[in-house]
Amino acid sequence: MVAGNWKLNGSRSANRALVRAVTDGLAAVSLGPEILASPRAPVDVLVCPPFVYLAEVAGLVDGCNLAVGAQDVAAEESGAFTGEVSAGMLRDVACSHAIVGHSERRALFGESDERVAAKVVAALRAGLVPILCVGETLAERDGGQTLPVVRRQLDAVFSALDTAGVASAARRAIVVAYEPVWAIGTGRTATPAQAQEVHADIRATVMRRDATIAGGLRILYGGSVKASNAKDLFAMQDIDGGLIGGASLQAAEFVSICKAAAG
Ligand code: PEP
Repeated sequence: MVAGNWKLNGSRSANRALVRAVTDGLAAVSLGPEILASPRAPVDVLVCPPFVYLAEVAGLVDGCNLAVGAQDVAAEESGAFTGEVSAGMLRDVACSHAIVGHSERRALFGESDERVAAKVVAALRAGLVPILCVGETLAERDGGQTLPVVRRQLDAVFSALDTAGVASAARRAIVVAYEPVWAIGTGRTATPAQAQEVHADIRATVMRRDATIAGGLRILYGGSVKASNAKDLFAMQDIDGGLIGGASLQAAEFVSICKAAAG
């Protein structure tokens, strides 16, 4: 899976141009001669525009092999929660995924592990695929806390799923994105080996919490992924794709990253 997080960027006309360039680029890749030459895996590709553009972008990608995700989702279904957008509303506008717990939401908007966990539960209950972001800050990495921090973030989610009684069949939809905070938007990427170490630990942690979903769990890497480094990252055993920020706003880069994910 390759997911593009557009963050706070875009306009109706810029979105149209970007979606057109991405869909054309993906079509050219899948129809190109390389597909015949190499055993390529199917790749789920999605773009995550700001809320106000979701319905329009969903219309633009209708009939293309491109899904649409939100960048956040409310923990509540409805009611007096000014400014929030629920999982049911996202489904209503043909949105299939939602990024949950992005480090910018955790750091800039004060989202706690518990709030993130409640959002994952809400997404699954509405049939939306949550892309759960986890990752450590630079201080935490330097302090040798990477694995404990990521385990804590995952444990909060699995405890909430247990409490809410969300069955394994529903949990299977969860996608995890490992995004070291120090690598987001900085141009500094985790090495494939650094990322693989954490991805393997994420799978092991999920295995401890729910053995039935760990094997099939998709774990994306995010943090300054570009066309030039995607192939080496995606070659690692437990890296199943990427969550792409800045590079998802450049169609050619994004399509090249999707191509790298196809193998
Ligand atoms: C992100 O924000 O999810 C991200 C990975 O950003 P970038 O690719 O720009 O580092």
